Amino acid sequence: MKVELKGLTKKYPSRNKNEKKDVVAVSNFDYTIPDGALVGLLGPSGCGKSTMLNMISGLQKPTEGRIFFGDTDVTDISPENRGVGLVFQNYALYPHLTARQNILFPLQNLKGKDKLSKEAMEEKMHEAAKLVQIERYLDRKPSELSGGQQQRVAIARALVKTPKVLLLDEPLSNLDARLRLQTREEIRRIQRETKVTTVFVTHDQDEAMSISDYIVVMKEGVIQQTGKPQDVYDSPANLFVAKFLGIPPINVFDGEVKDGKIYIGNDPVLNVKNVKEGKVYVTVRPEGFIPSADGALKCGLKSLEIMGRDVSIISENPASLSESIRSIVDADIKLDPALSEVRFNIKPHKLFIFDAETEERIYFETV
Ligand code: ADP
Ligand code: MG
Repeated sequence: MKVELKGLTKKYPSRNKNEKKDVVAVSNFDYTIPDGALVGLLGPSGCGKSTMLNMISGLQKPTEGRIFFGDTDVTDISPENRGVGLVFQNYALYPHLTARQNILFPLQNLKGKDKLSKEAMEEKMHEAAKLVQIERYLDRKPSELSGGQQQRVAIARALVKTPKVLLLDEPLSNLDARLRLQTREEIRRIQRETKVTTVFVTHDQDEAMSISDYIVVMKEGVIQQTGKPQDVYDSPANLFVAKFLGIPPINVFDGEVKDGKIYIGNDPVLNVKNVKEGKVYVTVRPEGFIPSADGALKCGLKSLEIMGRDVSIISENPASLSESIRSIVDADIKLDPALSEVRFNIKPHKLFIFDAETEERIYFETV
């Protein structure tokens, strides 16, 4: 099911009595989720992700804008009648019911022509339990299940009515690190098997990047960029997106474009053409540095972290906006840790520049 989100805005009355202005949680959100895709809605806490998800589910009404499932305008349809499956961070299972009863619950509430026979309900329940691999635990209550198992039950419950759209709001946040990895792979598998159009909300860029067909990056209620995870990583539209994606994070420097060169501080690091001159932020991905005796960027060497497959070079430079510059290079590249200086050449496609005022990307051609 294709989902079209057209000009969605959500304003809340301010909670602060002295402050009359509304809180704009989501502003003019325009995006189409392709049929069968898994879209990661990504941004820092408070940027409007849950509000967005709640508007898709019908739990909240948009102040402006329309929502379409396929060709149907569902904006005024109640959550129960939209055909959405919801999974939240805190599982929200009924504690007094077994896993089996929790999964059956949405089916038992079907009325009229949708009403199912006992056998049909059992069959659907088993199908969902099998999909999330919890058949062995069906007779346990939530308190007798681990966090990961509870979240699987919650996902089975969301899937049992074969929803048109599956909505997951930070579903992994309550799980420990190992389980988080395992469960996110599991969600990806389940989504591929069912092909249900899915929106996955998270503040964790790594999670969104690894699981999503497409990501939507939000900041303060406004979409910053959309696209395939790799494309957004490889070509961020503004400084916020560049900084938000990537571990370790991108390195940010004060810089300038003049006389056909990009400067980091006083070091000319790249020859360019067809580019606007002026003060910029120069950013370089950790994998964008090539240590070289005649490198253009001169840095003070602080330390080396050997991590098997690759080496992290921790260095410093007065133009860097953070205390340390982190670059990751192949372990075959040998550096003497006793050296005080390390020089780098920069891979052009790993370097982005942003206007110092607007923080928007400035595009350039290399020469
Ligand atoms: P996220 O899920 O990305 O953390 P939310 O959608 O929960 O963000 O919140 C977006 C903004 O809207 C925040 O500033 C939050 O404080 C505000 N907000 C959320 N719900 C309400 C509400 N019911 N009343 C007033 N403000 C709200
Ligand atoms: Mg939220």
